[in-house]
Amino acid sequence: MASEITKTVDKLGRIVLPKEIRKRMNIDTGTKILLCESDGKLTIEIITPKCKICGSPKNVNDALSLCETCITKVKQY
Ligand SMILES: [Zn+2]
Repeated sequence: MASEITKTVDKLGRIVLPKEIRKRMNIDTGTKILLCESDGKLTIEIITPKCKICGSPKNVNDALSLCETCITKVKQY
């Protein structure tokens, strides 16, 4: 499904992602995005970090690339 929305950039160069899109694409505070500029087009891609051990996208620690569950398990050994 493709959709287009016009947005205005503010003084600090920011744009606000519409709530509907954030909801639909699971974009939350702290979600990482990849900006890709090519041929005069700017594409925004959502980066979903996954746990290196179990592959879960939930509660993934940025520095370790592990989910909280796996971090807890690793700490027990
Ligand atoms: Zn994990």
